[in-house]
Amino acid sequence: MRRKLVVGNWKMNGSRAANAELLAGLNAAGPWTADVAVCAPFPYLGDVALSLQGGRIGWGAQDCSAHESGAFTGEVSAAMLAEFGCRFVIVGHSERRALHGESDQLVADKAKAALAHKLTPIVCVGETLAEREAGETDHVVKRQLSAVIHTLGHCVPQIVVAYEPVWAIGTGKTATPEQAQAVHALLRAQLHAATTKSDEMLILYGGSMKPDNAAQLLGQADIDGGLIGGASLKAADFAAICKAA
Ligand code: PGA
Repeated sequence: MRRKLVVGNWKMNGSRAANAELLAGLNAAGPWTADVAVCAPFPYLGDVALSLQGGRIGWGAQDCSAHESGAFTGEVSAAMLAEFGCRFVIVGHSERRALHGESDQLVADKAKAALAHKLTPIVCVGETLAEREAGETDHVVKRQLSAVIHTLGHCVPQIVVAYEPVWAIGTGKTATPEQAQAVHALLRAQLHAATTKSDEMLILYGGSMKPDNAAQLLGQADIDGGLIGGASLKAADFAAICKAA
């Protein structure tokens, strides 16, 4: 009943030439039964839009400002992303939380700004290794999601959630399907308490998802897709994950 969604997070990788090759490979590889999108660095969004428009693969960005416009040097607004045809924007990725000190509330405000321009925010939550080892996983992800729930109110069903254990990102250490499912079920329950539409909402898993572990992860009851970093940079790998979904 929930259609799967696979999103590539290119992070700060690529070049105009490499992107063109990657997107040509993906355009040739589809279509898939899952919905598919790629989130590119800001300067490439125009190119990406040209390569993907009219096709089945959507696109988006990796961050947006919580502000509408004005004196915010270096920031990019949700309105600007909408102008480039973005359907998605990742907010609260752990790299931004850790490297740019983004708070739970700022992430929630970014999600709100995205929704105001009809973009779907992909809200990332996830615990660090130290937090997992201290038994704080549930508390941390709940706290992160709760800021978003409180800020968005009745708009909560319009977001996509991504559970990305920080210790699994780019490390080759994937959460086991059981570990991931347990947190996804917890997040679903939290959404359920906030909205009657929780069963229709997508909760993606991210963290070293690859062609060889995708099917098992995506086979879990509450895992509705993937947010893919490293493996989204190779057309064959990303296409294999899309197919597994
Ligand atoms: P990874 O990254 O697939 O390279 O672990 C996932 C992410 O950070 O979104």
